Amino acid sequence: MARILIVEDEQRIASFVAKGLRAEGHQPTVVADGPGGLDAALSGRFDLMVLDIGLPGMNGFEVLDQLRSQGSRMPVIILTARDSVTDTVAALDSGADDYMAKPFRFAELLARVRLRLRTTDAPDARARDEVLRVGGLELDRRTRRIMINAEVLDLSAREFALAEIFMLNPGQVLTREQLLDHVWGYDFDPGSNVVDVYVGYLRKKVGNTTIATVRGVGYRFEPA
Ligand code: CA
Repeated sequence: MARILIVEDEQRIASFVAKGLRAEGHQPTVVADGPGGLDAALSGRFDLMVLDIGLPGMNGFEVLDQLRSQGSRMPVIILTARDSVTDTVAALDSGADDYMAKPFRFAELLARVRLRLRTTDAPDARARDEVLRVGGLELDRRTRRIMINAEVLDLSAREFALAEIFMLNPGQVLTREQLLDHVWGYDFDPGSNVVDVYVGYLRKKVGNTTIATVRGVGYRFEPA
C-alpha cells in the first residue's frame, strides 16, 4: 500500500486513476490545481506523485521544479498530452522519474507506479512483487513473460495485462468494466466486445478451462 498524490484537474482522468489505484490497494488523494499539489507534495505525507502538466495556478513543470529545488526526492510520474512529449522528455532531465502520454491504459500507469515504488521498497518486498505464481502459471513482471508448466507463452501486451489482473484475483469474479479499466484504460467504448475477444485469445494460450464465464457479469480465473 502506498499513499499516492494525483495532481490532475481533469476530473474524469483523476477519478479513473484514483479508482484504479484504490483497487490495487493504494491510498490515492486527488488535488486539482498546481499550488495545492505542490503543498501536498511538500507535506511529506505521500510516497509518489502522478502529476499533470496543464494545471490551474501553476503548471506541472513549475510544480516539479519547486519540489526538487526544495530538496524533495519523491518519485514523480508526469501525465502529458501526446503532442507535448518533447517538452516532457526535457522534464525528465529536470527531475521527473517517468511520464505517460495521454490517453494511456491504466495497466501502463500501474506498471510505472510499481517500478517507481519498488526503487524505494525493501528488497524482499521487491521480490514478492515481481513474480506471481498461481496454479501452474508464473508471471514475471520484470521480463513481462508468462510461463505455464515451465513453457514460455507468447502474449501481447494486452493479453499480459489481462492475465495479470486475473492472477492478482484468483477465484474472484471480475466484471467486464473492471477488465476494461485495467487493461484498456478510460478511453474505451463500454459497448464493445473487446474484453470477450481478448479473453478468448488468452484462453487459447492458458487453457480453456482456466477462465470461466460468469454469465451477464464477467469472468473468473480458476487456477488448476
Ligand atoms: Ca490538465
